[in-house]
Amino acid sequence: MNDANHHPEAAPIRMLDLRGEYAIFAGSLRDRLENVLASGHYIGGPAVAELEKALATRQSVKHAIAISNGSDALLCALMALGIGRGDEVIIPTFTFFATAGTVHRVGAAPVFVDCDPRTYNIDIEKLKKAITAKTKAVIPVHLFGQCADMASILAIADEHGLAVLEDAAQAIDATQDGRFAGAIAPMGALSFYPTKNLGGFGEGGMILCQNDDLALRCRQLRNHGQSKLYFHDFVGGNFRLDTLKAAILLTKLEKLTAFTAARAANAALYDELLAGSGVVTPRVGRGNRHVYHQYCILTPRRDELKKHLADHGVESGIYYPLPLHRQPCFAYLETPKDHCPVADDVCGRILALPVQPLLTEPEIRRVAELIRDFQRKER
Ligand SMILES: *Cc1c(COP(=O)(O)O)cnc(C)c1O
Repeated sequence: MNDANHHPEAAPIRMLDLRGEYAIFAGSLRDRLENVLASGHYIGGPAVAELEKALATRQSVKHAIAISNGSDALLCALMALGIGRGDEVIIPTFTFFATAGTVHRVGAAPVFVDCDPRTYNIDIEKLKKAITAKTKAVIPVHLFGQCADMASILAIADEHGLAVLEDAAQAIDATQDGRFAGAIAPMGALSFYPTKNLGGFGEGGMILCQNDDLALRCRQLRNHGQSKLYFHDFVGGNFRLDTLKAAILLTKLEKLTAFTAARAANAALYDELLAGSGVVTPRVGRGNRHVYHQYCILTPRRDELKKHLADHGVESGIYYPLPLHRQPCFAYLETPKDHCPVADDVCGRILALPVQPLLTEPEIRRVAELIRDFQRKER
């Protein structure tokens, strides 16, 4: 095969390079971690307070409350909002499971709404139609690192008296009209799962909150609803963050701006190289700064393209293969199967390409060339 782009000897191109990232931080991490280990303080403590302060300042939000993980951040925020049995919470069907799972866990019913065919975020017109007398809240998800249409969502919520909780797990550093994801609505949740844009070395999350009372409630809920030691105003959970994890996140936070810029540059290069290839590249909504947690393309021959890339040593990912309204665990909600045709279609055609910050330009060129080859040969 006389194929200039066939590189049997080339190193594989992976979706993530967490070991490469560790190498960047290893030196500065060691001191911080030694300090924590020697301090005798392993849960909460100064590093957690410092991380909360750093994120509150950085994202221009009144309160930041460190939480055990992103799912618990959503759960704790829903508890603080008093969402429970008999309530309905509107969420997109095209998202990671945790958005729906946490609504179920507080005893409320997730109400699934279809996604917009261009941004993959919740469809605003369909959201309006999903509101009933039982609707208490909306959780917009900033999928793949791009904000949902928050101006419209906040206006609708205002009109109907609904709470809004942003699921910004994939979108730290994304902005809409200059405001940070998770800090646009009164409450938002971040995740520091290792693969997220600010990934820790373990589980971690954060609630962002603009309201003093809700923030205090979250702090209490995080610690079993305790108001002072062994006095409990209500039942919460153990949603605390470990000190070591906070110290690690503080170190990684130093590079977040640079890593976000690298993801954006990688995405811009893909946009340029894939233009006219026949695959649909990501579209950025009005006023949005996209942080490319994932760089997703649409192609009707998704599974064949995925195999073609894998055969040439390039990883890719499918986020997500099945919309949440079709998950067996939510069959009890009896959502009509054809309720979300756009999400159904997208789930069958979407493919995430490597876009992580340590990717090199030749690697991106190789991925794009493999896609162009595939498009040319198999059309
Ligand atoms: C990762 C993620 C979560 C949950 O975060 P964890 O830290 O893994 O619990 C919630 N929502 C979305 C959209 C996510 O991508």
